[in-house]
Amino acid sequence: MRTKAIIHLNRFKNNFCSVQARIGSKRHICVSVKADAYGHGALQIAKKSLELGAYCLGVATVAEGANLRKGGIKAPIMLLSQSHPNEIPEIIKSDLTPFISDIEFASILNDSAKAAKQKIPVHMKIDSGMGRIGCSVKEAVSLARHIASCTKLKLTGTATHLAAADSANPKDIEYTNQQLTGFKKAVTAIKAAGINPGIIHAANSGGIILHPDSWLDMVRPGILLYGYKAVHEYELPLANMKKISKLKTLMVEPVMELISSVVLIKKIKKGESVSYGRTWIAENDTYIAVLPVGYADGLPRLASNKWQVVINGEEYPLVGRVCMDQCCVDLGPKPVVQRWDEALIFGADIVPEQSDKPVINHSAAALADVTGTIPYEITCNINKRVPRVYK
Ligand SMILES: *Cc1c(COP(=O)(O)O)cnc(C)c1O
Repeated sequence: MRTKAIIHLNRFKNNFCSVQARIGSKRHICVSVKADAYGHGALQIAKKSLELGAYCLGVATVAEGANLRKGGIKAPIMLLSQSHPNEIPEIIKSDLTPFISDIEFASILNDSAKAAKQKIPVHMKIDSGMGRIGCSVKEAVSLARHIASCTKLKLTGTATHLAAADSANPKDIEYTNQQLTGFKKAVTAIKAAGINPGIIHAANSGGIILHPDSWLDMVRPGILLYGYKAVHEYELPLANMKKISKLKTLMVEPVMELISSVVLIKKIKKGESVSYGRTWIAENDTYIAVLPVGYADGLPRLASNKWQVVINGEEYPLVGRVCMDQCCVDLGPKPVVQRWDEALIFGADIVPEQSDKPVINHSAAALADVTGTIPYEITCNINKRVPRVYK
């Protein structure tokens, strides 16, 4: 295989268990499997999650939810984004649980449900400060009353989403606390109006790491389960360390490894260039390995001349521009690498056997740092043409 993404389900399991241990066994987990489980394969991750005790799954689109149903998933599937009325027949058919932000959509949904003679579970979404979907804290009771009056809707949960839970900056901590206060106030008011709000939930990965107050009845991790901390612990301001250190460090490991192979080795002479635009010129005679992986596979073009791949435990720089389907690495003048050897593009950080050697930061998070993005975008962008191999 030219290039493949290994998905380590045992690591996913360990990450899942770390999250469950942190929040306690009584709280539910909704696994975010949107965007094909951040590139890891939605159906496989969904099945594994449910086997591990996940309560439900979160998707972004109706098609993502319908595909899980076609794959045999029976657990509740929440639609985390606002859908379009023309998708309602499929929402009903696939028994998805939409987030409801407003009276208008609730009514449209209720009318369709009546026509289909089916009851639809819904979660009410409250915008406590994300500024995206959801009703305002003030509107919460009237929306809850409206949903309660819709005979074909069943309110099974009430949710909010945190805008800055992944930041340990004191201002962001304060903002998250304000969001949680607003959300809890709305939930209390809904209960006071005699309406059962169902399962109450707010936390994404950042909330799980930094905000125990956000755990409530259920958490909705995504990135953390795929092995990346939304929060860079080394960036935590000292003032927050005390508060945060009360929480144990959460151990997670990257689930995806992107592996390519050396398909050609060639000698080039001092002064010769490699790849488009001639951005890299050999300073000495050297050997170049060609790898069949490019930006169409999801290796960012911005990694050109900035990233190292690991072959047999050693790092080699990506030289010249990353092309659509290929890239090149400099093996040096006396290469030990052989044709057809595997090349690790990213995966877990590599801890060398000899303790005097430094750890090689080689995760999608490190690649994201180098290319100005976040690990979410790196794993989501691993193209469909890269086969996933489950281990
Ligand atoms: C994507 C998403 C999550 C998961 O976010 P992570 O940062 O990956 O943990 C949780 N809740 C909602 C509403 C989402 O859209």
